[in-house]
Amino acid sequence: MPRRIVIIGAHAAGVDAASAARKTDRTADITLVTEEKHCGYSRCGLPFVIGGQIPSFPSLIVFLPSYFQMMKLNLKTETKATSIDTTNKTVEATDKNGKTEAIPYDSLIISTGASSFMPPIKGKEKQGIYSLRTLEDGEKIDAAIKKGGKTAVVMGAGLIGLETAIALKERGLKVTVIEMLPQILPQMLDPDLAKGAQEMLEQKGINIQTGKPVEEILGAEKATGVLAGGQQFDGDLIVSAFGVRANTQLAANAGIALGDTKAIKTNARMETSVKDVYAVGDCAESTHIVTQKPTLMQFGTVAVRHGKVSGINAAGGYALFTGVLGSSVSRLYETDVGSTGLTDGAAQRARIETVTGTITSKTKADYYPGALPIKVKLVVEKESQRIIGAQIIGGEEVTQRINAISFAIQKQMTARELAKADTAYAPPVCETWEPLVLAAEMVMMKLR
Ligand SMILES: Cc1cc2nc3c(=O)[nH]c(=O)nc-3n(C[C@H](O)[C@H](O)[C@H](O)COP(=O)(O)OP(=O)(O)OC[C@H]3O[C@@H](n4cnc5c(N)ncnc54)[C@H](O)[C@@H]3O)c2cc1C
Repeated sequence: MPRRIVIIGAHAAGVDAASAARKTDRTADITLVTEEKHCGYSRCGLPFVIGGQIPSFPSLIVFLPSYFQMMKLNLKTETKATSIDTTNKTVEATDKNGKTEAIPYDSLIISTGASSFMPPIKGKEKQGIYSLRTLEDGEKIDAAIKKGGKTAVVMGAGLIGLETAIALKERGLKVTVIEMLPQILPQMLDPDLAKGAQEMLEQKGINIQTGKPVEEILGAEKATGVLAGGQQFDGDLIVSAFGVRANTQLAANAGIALGDTKAIKTNARMETSVKDVYAVGDCAESTHIVTQKPTLMQFGTVAVRHGKVSGINAAGGYALFTGVLGSSVSRLYETDVGSTGLTDGAAQRARIETVTGTITSKTKADYYPGALPIKVKLVVEKESQRIIGAQIIGGEEVTQRINAISFAIQKQMTARELAKADTAYAPPVCETWEPLVLAAEMVMMKLR
């Protein structure tokens, strides 16, 4: 009998798990169950459809039905997995017509992802509060703009909040972003780098209010504004970008252990506490490469890598997931913002003593037309001189520098080694002295 692999969720993690399982076992019977109507689309592209850079929401569908047919994957859309029986190895699922079936499995992969989170704020039940997680969420925001929305309040200045704020501004709305913490992008940047990014956004006309916790959502039945830090901010569109929470209820009800982060606990093979059950993507924990502690990094890049490892293992192969650094990047107008590893703040919280080096340089030779500024901050563990994090803000060439530092952290490179790196140069593409090397030199000077 062919091996039966069931996957709950059919997005970044689930689809990559299915593809890897198929490549590992050509004969396996692979079923994906998703409660969404559309599957295998890019959530990451949603702000750019709203902003008008991508022509339509359907353009975001990466895996079309033909892909599932070609890979011989049995896809059940608009079907919700309601319970898992780990003793009899079945998943109970109900489709949109109310038909319930018990799907048997030999290996089960849970990729239930995460959902937008709304804290217990007064007025949170009011109509007209938008979030951006699904394609339908994006369509609703788009429709509200088309209906004549002129002003927006975005609650939360993380990556999704800022990308959404820019999208709304691109569509001509007057936008205010409210953030409880004293800085924007608190997961990615230390306050010194966040300040520059905030100033850039303010120059573009986005009103950013940091240090203001949202106390109430105002309006009669429909939300028309928010009260934050004692001040009132009115908006035709109120967008909640407080972050997401892992969807773990199904796993927890089945007796599958959750970890320190409240996401599903996994080992390096993406196995959960229950035999033959794997968990991946936004609902699953990973190990942080620097701290070696459990962490929850809810990124598409992590989801696909988790998915691949679980798919290989679930289909009888052997693969390991080596951990995460939270490498991330975003384009905010013409500025790229990237981060990997620990910020200095996160390192302090992990009780790691650090030395940092920050430099400002150019993305081409200073004399070459079009050279853009780039700022690099390196975070180094004082005792070992190991690089443990980096943040970069620049006009171009940020992503691959973040990736280079990510490799350096994974290979336990020291600041001294980076300061002596052999790098390339030509006036139209970079400076003679690579900015990463200059930042490492800055760290070495402080260490001397
Ligand atoms: C606006 C936005 C921008 C983003 N930008 C980036 C970016 O630039 N870079 C990056 O790396 N990441 C980005 N992300 C994050 C990235 O999209 C997520 O990390 C990724 O989607 C996680 O994939 P997943 O498969 O784990 O979970 P999800 O995408 O959440 O998919 C899980 C699926 O499981 C389904 N499901 C849940 N429970 C059940 C059930 N009981 N039965 C059936 N189906 C169920 C859900 O409906 C969902 O369809 C962004 C996210 C958003 C929202």
